[in-house]
Amino acid sequence: MLELHCHTTCSDGTLTPSELVRAAARAGIRALALTDHDTIAGWDEARDACTQHGLELVPGLELSTSHNGFSLHILGFYPDPKRIEAFLAERHAARVRRARHMVERLGELGYPIAMPDVPTPGRPHIAKALCEAGYVRHEQEAFERWLGEGRPAYVPYERLSSEDGIRALRASGAVPVWAHPMLFRGGNVEQVLPVLVEAGLQGVEVYHCEHSPRQSARLLKMIEPYGLIATGGSDFHGTNKDGVELNMLRLPLTLLGPLKHLANVDRMDTTGVLVK
Ligand code: AMP
Ligand code: FE
Ligand code: FE
Ligand code: ZN
Repeated sequence: MLELHCHTTCSDGTLTPSELVRAAARAGIRALALTDHDTIAGWDEARDACTQHGLELVPGLELSTSHNGFSLHILGFYPDPKRIEAFLAERHAARVRRARHMVERLGELGYPIAMPDVPTPGRPHIAKALCEAGYVRHEQEAFERWLGEGRPAYVPYERLSSEDGIRALRASGAVPVWAHPMLFRGGNVEQVLPVLVEAGLQGVEVYHCEHSPRQSARLLKMIEPYGLIATGGSDFHGTNKDGVELNMLRLPLTLLGPLKHLANVDRMDTTGVLVK
């Protein structure tokens, strides 16, 4: 089975890369993508663990961009690390500045918390801190009151348009895939899709824990005329996201072939390094 969307402690998941790989192996996954938000810091550890457990690692990331002023996530699979490092370092710094800004806003609103001490801070960490401070009963409430898009402590990502994000991924040799399009709040998918395709989008995450079977079927039909590939993943975050289990979508390994073809990945060398 295949799993193409997972987070670790390198961003807002709760398992380390090695723990994730072990859990994935136990859940029956044979090929696993690591897609932390705006970072590839987990790859090395995940690759070692994959070698140990006999899994194939699909190196990836989930890039935070904005479209029409709303958050839009782009998965990037198989970027050349050397060609994406500098770009990600800048995006990562922007993410840290944004988290500080949200913490400041919460202080102004009368809910002071400390800046979360994690490598790649995001809203889930801030929600957790609000919970631990006793301001809300659960993290979902923190999103509803302060952190959700349009709520008083929400701060959008520092400007990176989805088109520029897609172009940056392509320039690094990655295959860009629109993550969970049905969760996008800034326009309908039919209208946004051609704009992203024009910028170089190559795939759509058709299968996702928050897409209904009917929505996935709709997406599959929608991508056909553009010749885009379909990917899927659970968007596993460990205990940071309730109701999501590894391999819950039971996706077939056959989805991986077209993705590797686009990435020009022929084989792994003996050390597990991708040969392009
Ligand atoms: P960020 O990239 O920092 O804006 O955080 C986005 C992450 O927050 C997503 O990947 C989810 O893990 C989580 N998230 C977004 N919206 C909600 C929500 N309404 N309730 C709970 N978690 C959410
Ligand atoms: Fe997340
Ligand atoms: Fe996402
Ligand atoms: Zn994700």
